[in-house]
Amino acid sequence: MKKPKKPRGIAKYTEGCILCGERCRVACPTDAIEMSETGEPIIVAAKCIGCQKCVKVCPAEAIEMYYTPEEYALLRQFQEAGLDKPVETAEAGSEWKNVWVFVEQSEGKAHVVSWELLGAGRKLADDLGVELCAFLMGHKVGHLVEEAFAYGAERVYLIDDPQLSHYRTRPYLQGGVTLIQKYKPEIVLMGATGLGRDLAGALATELKTGLTADCTGLSISPADRLLEQTRPAFGGNIMATILTEKARPQMASVRPYVMPKPEKSKDISGEVIQESLTLSEGDLLTKIIELIPMDSEGNVNVAAANIIVSGGRGMLAAENFKMLQELADLLGGVVGSSRGAVDAGWMPRSRQVGQTGKTVKPKLYIACGISGAIQHLVGMQNSDNIIAINKDKHAPIFEVAHLGIVGDVFEVIPAFIEKIKERKSQVRQLAVAE
Ligand code: FAD
Repeated sequence: MKKPKKPRGIAKYTEGCILCGERCRVACPTDAIEMSETGEPIIVAAKCIGCQKCVKVCPAEAIEMYYTPEEYALLRQFQEAGLDKPVETAEAGSEWKNVWVFVEQSEGKAHVVSWELLGAGRKLADDLGVELCAFLMGHKVGHLVEEAFAYGAERVYLIDDPQLSHYRTRPYLQGGVTLIQKYKPEIVLMGATGLGRDLAGALATELKTGLTADCTGLSISPADRLLEQTRPAFGGNIMATILTEKARPQMASVRPYVMPKPEKSKDISGEVIQESLTLSEGDLLTKIIELIPMDSEGNVNVAAANIIVSGGRGMLAAENFKMLQELADLLGGVVGSSRGAVDAGWMPRSRQVGQTGKTVKPKLYIACGISGAIQHLVGMQNSDNIIAINKDKHAPIFEVAHLGIVGDVFEVIPAFIEKIKERKSQVRQLAVAE
């Protein structure tokens, strides 16, 4: 019999808004909340999905859920049938042990985030006094086991199967669930890449546990040994530390280039535990016919660049980004941008740096005409060297800059370009003279 669907209702503003700063609007995942001229929420019923996020964040309890009489009747039936009870989760306990990192690979090449997470996982495992392990799935990926050991894993759980040659949710999910349910890691870390986001969400749902996506900090609480998962919240205005108190494993994802990559050790010893898939190809609905690289914008991967020259709304027009491209070419870097410039249509979304764009950690980040909103800063503030050029000396970007230039980008950048060309030609002349 088909399971009845629990009514979700819609949110309604009652009264008593205390003008807290639009928390309800920011929390709404469907942009269903607009603010009136007096600053109170107007909830567009057609867009509300009944997620209750606005209800939960409202400090004045001014938003309530509304159900039709039919929905109320159905809700009562749910309660009476006991269908309202929370799903059962695997409870925390001593059988859940060790820190696991998912080694993401594509065509036998590991994604760098896997090694960065082994670096972060090492500290967590040491603080807990447990082992750091990796889990790896794919086909003919045995060579990555040694690499995982070199980056700090003490044990690798491996499933090598032809069905895992290319990523598909179903077989990877089955493999991951099999390993986690059998060996019970207390912490599972995964990269917040396209693949990682898909698999982490599916795993957490299947294992009925929590997942904190896009963490920027991970640590162990000394008091209760819980994983403290820190990430930006409320549109990046605050940093929230999230705990998964009861369910296991505690799952977190981290974007590439947020955590430093550890040194590769020459010690490649460790234990390998091999498991197998119980699915056959006939059980799978999806077939991979062809792999087409996604990057259609000149193969630029901002997240992996060592030098980024980024432009914001202060660049005033799309054509002015040519100047940034020239500077980036001279430095051997790439051009990035703020969301302001992307929203203006001057740069493609793939170049956006920040909370809803890419997280970057280049050796040099040059911010040109970017104010430094928190949502931009969370994506670039870990860069090794930051140079900011802004004509407003109070711009927040200067708070994270190692070198700040209060000036007009249209004067400073051409001067930079000229100086670099001059230096390059001097170097060439010296080389010829020698
Ligand atoms: P502005 O804030 O308009 O700043 C332009 C700057 O240029 C000003 O500081 C000005 O002084 C300077 N300027 C102007 N002319 C010149 C000149 N001639 N020379 C030098 N300086 C000049 N933003 C992101 O960047 N990335 C994100 O991922 C992101 N995600 C977001 C997610 C959410 C949920 C929300 C709510 C917002 C997000 N934003 C993001 C938007 C963010 O809040 C800012 O609106 C955005 O970063 C502003 O872009 P900007 O700095 O280019 O523009």
